[in-house]
Amino acid sequence: MAKRFDRTGDVEINRKDRLKIPRQVMHKQKPTERVHNFSEVYLGFDAETAQLEASRCLQCPELSGCAGACPLHNDIPRAMWHISRGEFLQAAAVYRETSNLPEVCGRVCPQEKLCQGSCVVGKRDQPVFLGKLEYFVTDYERRTVGLKKPEIAPATGKRIAIVGAGPAGLAVAEELIKRGHAATVFEILPVAGGVMVYGIPSFKLDKQVIADKVEFLKSIGVEFVFNTTIGKDKTLNDLFADGYHSIFLGTGAWVPTKLNLPGENLKGIYMATEYLIRGNLSPDYLPEGFKDRPEAGKHIAILGGGDTAMDCVRTARRLQIQAGITDGSVIDYYRRTEKEMPGKAEERTNANEEGIEFKFLVAPVQFLGDETGHVCKMELLRMELGEPDASGRRRPIEVEGSNFVVEADTVVCALGYNQDRTIEKTTPGLKVDKWGCYIVDQNSGATSIPGVYAGGDAVTGADLVVTAMAAGRRAALAMDQYLRDK
Ligand SMILES: Cc1cc2nc3c(=O)[nH]c(=O)nc-3n(C[C@H](O)[C@H](O)[C@H](O)COP(=O)(O)OP(=O)(O)OC[C@H]3O[C@@H](n4cnc5c(N)ncnc54)[C@H](O)[C@@H]3O)c2cc1C
Repeated sequence: MAKRFDRTGDVEINRKDRLKIPRQVMHKQKPTERVHNFSEVYLGFDAETAQLEASRCLQCPELSGCAGACPLHNDIPRAMWHISRGEFLQAAAVYRETSNLPEVCGRVCPQEKLCQGSCVVGKRDQPVFLGKLEYFVTDYERRTVGLKKPEIAPATGKRIAIVGAGPAGLAVAEELIKRGHAATVFEILPVAGGVMVYGIPSFKLDKQVIADKVEFLKSIGVEFVFNTTIGKDKTLNDLFADGYHSIFLGTGAWVPTKLNLPGENLKGIYMATEYLIRGNLSPDYLPEGFKDRPEAGKHIAILGGGDTAMDCVRTARRLQIQAGITDGSVIDYYRRTEKEMPGKAEERTNANEEGIEFKFLVAPVQFLGDETGHVCKMELLRMELGEPDASGRRRPIEVEGSNFVVEADTVVCALGYNQDRTIEKTTPGLKVDKWGCYIVDQNSGATSIPGVYAGGDAVTGADLVVTAMAAGRRAALAMDQYLRDK
């Protein structure tokens, strides 16, 4: 076996000894306690446990294993090396070299499919808790010294308009400010963060984490204009006329997929985003018309199998308990099996622990209402799996005549998201594909209009925080070059 040395090049890494260190325990709030609150479920590592856990890292060469699997290519072994030595701020700085939101990614990335999925330790034992360590050190940094102000290049006199304050837009803003440009973020909603605030519940991602990041961005000069819809209140041409030299579209994918089934408009049937934002956020974050809590039924049915569905089932359980319903059910209905579920396995475990039931290989057929027009039952059909489809997952096929009816007095549809077409409709020459995703150059994010760039879910369709941020960082580099060449 070739010798491997630590990052100083002096100390030989004894891989056998490292493999003997047991995986450390990440404590969580007990399920019986946490269903009564919306606070983060994971309690985090303490310094000693973090050091031990990071010492399990075998210091594989950069870009093999975990670092190669991270869409941002974070130098994870180097961060682990610092953590194992108790150098938490240095470790946080390693993440910040390549990531604008490591405090978020550590919490919400599907690590089992990315870094941890490629961790060499994981071939013999449980992989190193890479995500949990990422947020341990970045939280340590936030709580002790705060986010370090970056060096800012001399002002270039160039102004950039960023549409959308999600991870893609925020990454562009930070990267361009660092390069000396002025960045203004336009956002429909009253608070910045995109889906990180208006989607992912606070039991997975504390809103304060995003609030701190937004304050930091303001402190380095990013301007925010809220309650403004680009494409309606102002067009892209208006922005150019206002003196912006380049525009980034980070508008996400937030129009919910509808089922188009009989009874879908009955009272008590919600789309996931509305349910999550009304269920999770304090009224200060919410636009008018969204400020009251959704209903908590006795038999809550969630349709879908991804991260959004898991967020909905767990929100539903908490709302039920807040409403004093202790003998109710929350059931997730999914048309494939658990193996094909796209979301994070850890979140399914958490949901299971919180008493959520799962019914696989079923699809809704119609919703039935009571005399007041409120949903009371749902008709379903059993499915079986056929050949793999374009997504690589086995296609669900209806089992004819297998219909059955279940109780359901609240239904939440978490079936995916589509593009909003507002900007496309008011921007001649802006090319989109058949789903309304902006067509861009894959390396730069350049759209069909010179000076206009795009990235994140607005280009790929619904994806991940980390991929949206990576797209924002790529576009920022290209925009910087465009502005300098101009
Ligand atoms: C419920 C839910 C749970 C999720 N859980 C996870 C998870 O656990 N892990 C993970 O990695 N990913 C998760 N995702 C996906 C992830 O949040 C998204 O992929 C990511 O936020 C996309 O970033 P973005 O910047 O492209 O868009 P968004 O985060 O959607 O931000 C776009 C922003 O643009 C604004 N906007 C849109 N149009 C306009 C306009 N015309 N004018 C001005 N502003 C506009 C929107 O209001 C929004 O704030 C989840 C998604 C949802 C919906």
